[in-house]
Amino acid sequence: MRVKLVAGNWKMNGSLASCQALLKAIMPPLSALKRARYAVCAPYPYLAAVGQALKGSNVALGAQDVCQFEDGAYTGGVSGAMLADCGCRYVLVGHSERRSVFGETDEVAAAKFAQALRHGLTPILCIGEALAEREAGTTEAVVARQLDAVIRQGGLETLARSVVAYEPVWAIGTGKTATPQQAQAVHAYIRARIAAADRRLADALVILYGGSVKGANAAQLFAMPDVDGGLIGGASLVADEFVAICRAAQGAEETARI
Ligand code: PEP
Repeated sequence: MRVKLVAGNWKMNGSLASCQALLKAIMPPLSALKRARYAVCAPYPYLAAVGQALKGSNVALGAQDVCQFEDGAYTGGVSGAMLADCGCRYVLVGHSERRSVFGETDEVAAAKFAQALRHGLTPILCIGEALAEREAGTTEAVVARQLDAVIRQGGLETLARSVVAYEPVWAIGTGKTATPQQAQAVHAYIRARIAAADRRLADALVILYGGSVKGANAAQLFAMPDVDGGLIGGASLVADEFVAICRAAQGAEETARI
């Protein structure tokens, strides 16, 4: 059975002091939410301190990127081994900002995905279409291409140790959330595509929705049968909003168990 996951992506925001203040505000309410799973993906320099603050809690540590290479002369790179050393459980791979701003290709994202797995991290593979692609009716083709790059490089079974995040680029940081029906349609497509090759794997795969999720719309999104939680950018920096989203995940789990 899939369990809802909410992961905050703090992006390149804040300071050590603001990260600590945010944790101080979210940790007490989150400690009472036992049904779903939670994580925060912190900037590299703060991973160790954030990891220390999360120790023994129900919130896991994640990073926002990983180098596609193992180790060596890659100035500025941060390896999967280093992230594991810092106590990370999750790492974002192929976020649309990495793809569009830093020119990451599907193949580079797939190599990063492989590095994460090699070091025992759970990659959160971000896929999603740009507005022009949605308007051209190519949403499914785009997410299939992004997913297939990972399958081609590592094999279908590697998805069993990962999380997929469907993040329509037009919804990221724009305030334009996909409707629950739009999100559900793409999530169902992703699951069906994997199920065609391996139904058990597809049924167990956690697929998050990301793109302007807020406290006010999280419950409707998480109520969709193929939406297994959220990847949260802007709202993860606002304690009350993030806690409300985490409560929505807990609520969805409670409803599912009735
Ligand atoms: C993200 O960056 O992954 C994201 C979903 O951002 P936002 O929630 O701000 O749209």
